[in-house]
Amino acid sequence: ETEIQHADVIGVADDVEHDVAPPPVVAVVGRPNVGKSTLVNRILGRREAVVEDVPGVTRDRVAYDAAWGGRRFTVLDTGGWEPNAEGLAAAVADQARLAVDAADVVLFVVDATVGATDTDEAVADVLRRSKKPVVLTANKVDDSRAESDATLLWSLGLGEPLTVSALHGRGSGDLLDAVLHALPEEAPPETFGVAGGPRRIALLGRPNVGKSSLLNKLAGENRVVVDSVAGTTRDPVDELIELGGQTWKFVDTAGIRRRARENQGADFYATLRTQSALDRSEVAVVLVDASEPLAEQDLRIISMVIESGRSLVLAFNKWDLVDEERRHFLDREIDRQLHHARWAPRVNISARTGRHVEKLVPGIETALAGWGERVPTARLNSFMSDLIAAKPHPVRGGKQPRVMFATQAGVQPPRFVLFTTGFLEEGYRRFIERRLREEFGFDGTPIEISMKIRE
Ligand code: GDP
Ligand code: GDP
Repeated sequence: ETEIQHADVIGVADDVEHDVAPPPVVAVVGRPNVGKSTLVNRILGRREAVVEDVPGVTRDRVAYDAAWGGRRFTVLDTGGWEPNAEGLAAAVADQARLAVDAADVVLFVVDATVGATDTDEAVADVLRRSKKPVVLTANKVDDSRAESDATLLWSLGLGEPLTVSALHGRGSGDLLDAVLHALPEEAPPETFGVAGGPRRIALLGRPNVGKSSLLNKLAGENRVVVDSVAGTTRDPVDELIELGGQTWKFVDTAGIRRRARENQGADFYATLRTQSALDRSEVAVVLVDASEPLAEQDLRIISMVIESGRSLVLAFNKWDLVDEERRHFLDREIDRQLHHARWAPRVNISARTGRHVEKLVPGIETALAGWGERVPTARLNSFMSDLIAAKPHPVRGGKQPRVMFATQAGVQPPRFVLFTTGFLEEGYRRFIERRLREEFGFDGTPIEISMKIRE
């Protein structure tokens, strides 16, 4: 049995509420030369296959994004795998076993012009034992005369062979309908952040870092609309503020303004407010008082943002009070204490003088872009195979877990699922995260990496 295992410390905690499953996986298995690759290209449609292929990379024959009838899924071309077993039949059966574990539906390709070979029988055996739905595909049925060859494939005990010509496209629509039919029920679509309207910003920070000063600065020089939700005075009040030619929604500004006047409440309530503002926002601007050493509460708020899976901008306020010496210490504090958020855009501002306040907007835009970024499956997998070839997972207890393939299960924040043959240790997952960031950016956003382990 396989099961989703979450990498606990990377980016996002286990219990993120919008824990979305990856798109279903359709694995294409079969002997060499039966037409698996041709069929995969057919499923993708030539154009997409060409676009997604990275020139000069031969190891990228792994996984692709596909869609049919409005349904998205991942197509896995197992022809790209190198099974461990010796001998063709054993190797192909081994490959089928891996595929069965990783896939929701197995598309078993047989060459109808050849008929069922011993190797095909061995694969059929593996597939029959698995509980996964199998679509039996009789390929190379280029014309109606070849149809009769295909009927012999009933002998594999996998039901009716669907005849196709991967090369010419014949029967491929019916085949995809059958695949669609075999896919698991569709998960409800992601609704988070698609509501449209202005992007939502939470302005966070411990007391006295300058939140209300910044808000006044931003509001004072720009157009503001107070947005009272649901009319009751106890509800959080948001403000729409125009910055850099765009309207932004600052959530729970009433809380910020009120807190400025009231005596600071207990920590507990501050944390509750922070959490509720985070829940309603897409990006958090965490204000830090740059003139003082980083406080534990600063770090706690930053951790809350990361754990909530929101994008993050760090604003170092009171920059007018920062001299050469303070700057030196601040750099060291950032190095030591903020390394888990080193991907966050940083801006040095002064809410009092207005210095560089306008630089907040590009920081926010960067963070939101990284938060919503999606890497196409083919690109992700060619990147992963290069990465794994360059630095394989260390051998532990005589075993070396392999990453068979990866998909990006979602965005906001980016969530990756690695299909592996064993548990990847934390150091290796961090390495993968680091390389993902180097390759694809993801500035300003936490990344979630989870594993689907084949035991
Ligand atoms: P794979 O090793 O299973 O991925 O097989 P390929 O997709 O590389 O195909 C092997 C050979 O079979 C290639 O020469 C293809 O052009 C050919 N082929 C694939 N599908 C068909 C088909 O539907 N009809 C015919 N006539 N040839 C096909
Ligand atoms: P809040 O509790 O986070 O809303 O912080 P306030 O906006 O009430 O600011 C706390 C104190 O810091 C006030 O005395 C502000 O005038 C002061 N302050 C805010 N921003 C700056 C700044 O950029 N530079 C300096 N020197 N003081 C600031």
